[in-house]
Amino acid sequence: MTGTGPGPLRVIYLGGLGRSGSTLVERLLAELPGVCPAGEVVHMWQRGVVEDERCGCGEPFSGCGFWRDVGQAAFGGWAGLDAGRVAELRGAVDRTRHIPLLAAPVLPPRVRRDLDEYLGYYTRVYSAITEVSGCPMVVDSSKHASLAFCLRWSPRLDLRVIHVVRDSRAVAFSWTRKVSRPDAARASSMATYSPATAAGHWNAQNGALQLLAGLGVPTLRVRYEDLVSSPAAIVARIADFARIETDASQFGFLGADAGARWADLRAAHTASGNPMRFTTGRVAIRRDERWRTAMPSGQRRTVTALTAPLLAQYRYPWRAA
Ligand SMILES: [Zn+2]
Repeated sequence: MTGTGPGPLRVIYLGGLGRSGSTLVERLLAELPGVCPAGEVVHMWQRGVVEDERCGCGEPFSGCGFWRDVGQAAFGGWAGLDAGRVAELRGAVDRTRHIPLLAAPVLPPRVRRDLDEYLGYYTRVYSAITEVSGCPMVVDSSKHASLAFCLRWSPRLDLRVIHVVRDSRAVAFSWTRKVSRPDAARASSMATYSPATAAGHWNAQNGALQLLAGLGVPTLRVRYEDLVSSPAAIVARIADFARIETDASQFGFLGADAGARWADLRAAHTASGNPMRFTTGRVAIRRDERWRTAMPSGQRRTVTALTAPLLAQYRYPWRAA
């Protein structure tokens, strides 16, 4: 970036293993002034541009005016994008197994070239989203730690990471269950994992995001359980961390009736993500505690044992009463 160039692109990156509540975080941040939620940009290239899945507004990607304008601003139209090249570059640099390489102080020249080309696609899209939405702040809820490790190398970005954690037993239980994906034209389901596999991914993603914070990337850790019990306080903490200017009047979308918390949510143009992104209007904010009664005790013990060190660090009780 030169001294006369545009200012840095301000990006809030939501990191963590899927089913940890990042969609709720994104939906709540989307209600703040100057914040544009983009959904999971990592999947936008394939699921949005190529497969024409639905935007959070309900339209197919190609029929959404917001994304049409973004594609125009970024690439002169999506037809000008080589989505295959983005997928190829992703395979070359943006994988969990490449994190040790991306965490190093210097990259091998060939990796650096691929990474710079890959980052070019992201910065063009972030810049276009800023331009089209008029919002100075973009939220990318891609979640994968590996993409955050890639983004940290971009001199164009003012990157702030929200590391969303949730009790590993709740996350693993969720991954064992079938969830349908209403995004696609044809009926399909989200992936499922065995409890042990989910525990392994939980350790890897959370451990990697802690490593990223250790490298100096501004990171705020948020527990899903705290967000659900005190949404206004946690959203205010995130806004403060991300330097989003807010005052009390901007929290009117959050409320409670007789102790039951809710948020009033508008539709957002989010590309790809959890099915919860389609819900609008008054949405109940409450913990999903089904795992406490429905998760077989053997599975619970396995996940507890495999994730014990980080569970303790995040102050989750060992015994899930
Ligand atoms: Zn849309």
